[in-house]
Amino acid sequence: MNKVLLCAETLPEETRTALVPAHVKALCEMGYELFVQSDAGLTIGFTNDDYKEAGAKIIENLQEGYDSCDIVVRINKPDDSINAMREHTLHISCFDVFNEKEAVQTFADAGIRMVSLEMMPRSTIAQKMDIQSSQASLAGYYSVILAASRLPKIFPMMMTPAGTISPARVFIIGVGVAGLQAIATAKRLGARVEAFDTRPVVEEEVKSLGAKFVKIDLGEMSQTEQGYAKELTPEQVELQRQGQAKVCAQSDIVITTAKVFGRKAPLLLTKDMIDTMKPGSIVVDMAVKTGGNVEGSSPDEDIITDNGVMIISGDSLERAVPKDASNMFSGNIFAFLEHFWDSENKTFNLDYNDEILKGCLITADRKIIHERFRGE
Ligand code: NAD
Repeated sequence: MNKVLLCAETLPEETRTALVPAHVKALCEMGYELFVQSDAGLTIGFTNDDYKEAGAKIIENLQEGYDSCDIVVRINKPDDSINAMREHTLHISCFDVFNEKEAVQTFADAGIRMVSLEMMPRSTIAQKMDIQSSQASLAGYYSVILAASRLPKIFPMMMTPAGTISPARVFIIGVGVAGLQAIATAKRLGARVEAFDTRPVVEEEVKSLGAKFVKIDLGEMSQTEQGYAKELTPEQVELQRQGQAKVCAQSDIVITTAKVFGRKAPLLLTKDMIDTMKPGSIVVDMAVKTGGNVEGSSPDEDIITDNGVMIISGDSLERAVPKDASNMFSGNIFAFLEHFWDSENKTFNLDYNDEILKGCLITADRKIIHERFRGE
């Protein structure tokens, strides 16, 4: 197993590519054979010649690629071509296993070994393969840039002969990978930043970035072994809403990133709370695709409420910075392929007992083999 196909993305809104020429070159040097679907890197300015120079063969037709390769790499799940792949193909992409049950079954029935990159375990060794982290960092950064560009005021305090401008107030709800980058970016731009997260360990991280941690007593709060937040009870969610209502009302920008792995995101900003915000304020809902933290948010369009608050979709903001997002995604894929490279036998070492593979390999041998989804 050493022939890798890089597919061109088919979603019109996708701007990234899963492998950049630098990593293609490094993989070829390692012993992989690379096939690249024509124009796969064009959205970020990489031509077929760039990939050819890196050592890849350009494939005009996707089916030709499927027929020639053992490993298929792309960012998004395939549209309707799962059955066009050969049995035993190793398919590596983002894949929402929790909400795509039918497609999981199609992968299983087709005998494809499907890796979901979102399911990558959160271990130190797998950190460099973790697309959630690499993409969320960029999305967190961009959420602030986007909100700042729409806000009718500046971020820093400014003292001028014409008067003093107070700093913008930014409230970040959910301080994981994206939230931390959002805090750092807002601080760099000069805003006054407050933040809240249900995981107790976060308070120190928030303070170390120079932001204020909003204290809300929700009773017992903890995190899973993998570092994810645990789901709150409805009573705790209500307590949280009450505790953060005043901060929201005073903020110029609220960015929500609160997610609970494998479950619907909690609704943390209700219409009542948005009604208390100032006209011109901005809300960015980065959990909009997984249920939404903000009442009325939409993944497809920005909403202006009756009181003049703009609710922006924070879905896949990494796509707004595709060059860096592709480089990082590609670095994650490279690390994965490097980790499993068996240099003696010049093949991808498909060891089902490897902890990393156990965490992210969902289907194989015409079955759903991942223990969390088996039998569902
Ligand atoms: P995530 O995307 O699942 O959630 C984002 C944040 O929302 C989390 O911090 C979570 O605690 C928070 N949240 C959930 N419910 C909330 C609520 N009701 N109110 C406020 N906040 C709420 O998480 P993430 O950003 O991917 O990462 C979470 C943690 O895992 C971080 O500490 C991160 O450093 C760690 N991590 C470790 C690894 C690794 O070791 N390989 C990789 C990635 C992340």
